[in-house]
Amino acid sequence: MSNESLIIDDDDRYSRLRLIAWWHQEKLANAKVLVVGAGALGNEVLKNLALLGIGNVYVVDFDEIEQSNLTRSVLFRQRDCGRPKAEAAAETIRDINPDTTITPMMANVVTDVGLGLFRDVDVVIGCLDNREARLWVNRQCWKVNTPWIDGGIQEINGVVKVFAPPDSACYECAMTENDYRLINLRYSCPLLRQEDLLAGKVPTAPTISSIIAGMQVQEALKLIHGMPVESGVACVFNGVTNQFYKTSFQRREDCLSHETYPAPIELPLSCSESTATDLFAAVRESLDVEDAMTLSLDRDLVVDVRCAKCDTQARIMKPLQVVGTDEAKCPECGETAKPTLTHSIASDSALASETLASLGVPPYDIVRVETSAGEQVVLLGGDAEQPMTNDK
Ligand SMILES: [Zn+2]
Ligand SMILES: [Zn+2]
Repeated sequence: MSNESLIIDDDDRYSRLRLIAWWHQEKLANAKVLVVGAGALGNEVLKNLALLGIGNVYVVDFDEIEQSNLTRSVLFRQRDCGRPKAEAAAETIRDINPDTTITPMMANVVTDVGLGLFRDVDVVIGCLDNREARLWVNRQCWKVNTPWIDGGIQEINGVVKVFAPPDSACYECAMTENDYRLINLRYSCPLLRQEDLLAGKVPTAPTISSIIAGMQVQEALKLIHGMPVESGVACVFNGVTNQFYKTSFQRREDCLSHETYPAPIELPLSCSESTATDLFAAVRESLDVEDAMTLSLDRDLVVDVRCAKCDTQARIMKPLQVVGTDEAKCPECGETAKPTLTHSIASDSALASETLASLGVPPYDIVRVETSAGEQVVLLGGDAEQPMTNDK
């Protein structure tokens, strides 16, 4: 036995981990990690984060547990069927390690999670099954300079990709024409989402989710420790032949994802209580300017739909991403109705008196306001105590 065995404190849960030369358990205890998706990969990622003693974990998922999830989800039990995945996962995580504070968010990552949370965390881990959500997570991470680790699995094969803003190649840099085509297909005529095209029925074995999630969390572990991590690179594992290779993505300078925001000003505004007019007033006060302003919406807002046949109009006031085909139909005659979309709210617009939440802005979001003095970036600090999600 070496001398080291003498200094192990057996009452310390992390004593064996601390023996790794470069390990800093305190860095893990102080770390904040956002996990997007609580499916097969998400379960394994969350399990690893809890075993490591990561101090703060947020998990976003709006699905409920089905029987077929039980073969690939270490955190779910038979009795959990029908419960929200995020909630059941959080419960097991607290049991695995009480040192990990986990916040479940029964939410859609695109429409319900504020950019402030993406800014506050050290790393985002993507456990997603569709391109649209990955593209969204990628753009959010770039805006606030937070690295993210994407994982993908199919049958017994998988891939891990690390993206580190602002300089590495990003998820969108690696997207092909076909990827864009498949995303646009979901917004085909009349622009609204077609539920039938929803992704997510890819067959996977629990063994590959362990392997890929293990790699994702190991990369996160290195990032949290400030160790070098290769970014803009895909690690591809072929589970049939056990071949493992890396491929680098080419950074595209014209890529639409590469926008990084300046540090936001934090104002005591809340998405559910403050209107766009309140926002403009607060920005005027903080900048000491008197002029017209425009709020740029990150999510296209469907204001209403109008029927071309009978001219019936129905108010929607929801982000495009969550308007279903049912709502896109005329309530009178059932004909497909035409949506009115907006992506900005001017201070003299009738919509300026709406709350930010009804304009599709989630809690603790970071919003952009156009002023004569340039663009101002604002964090909705009034939501800081509850930086979670729109109530579901
Ligand atoms: Zn890019
Ligand atoms: Zn009609």
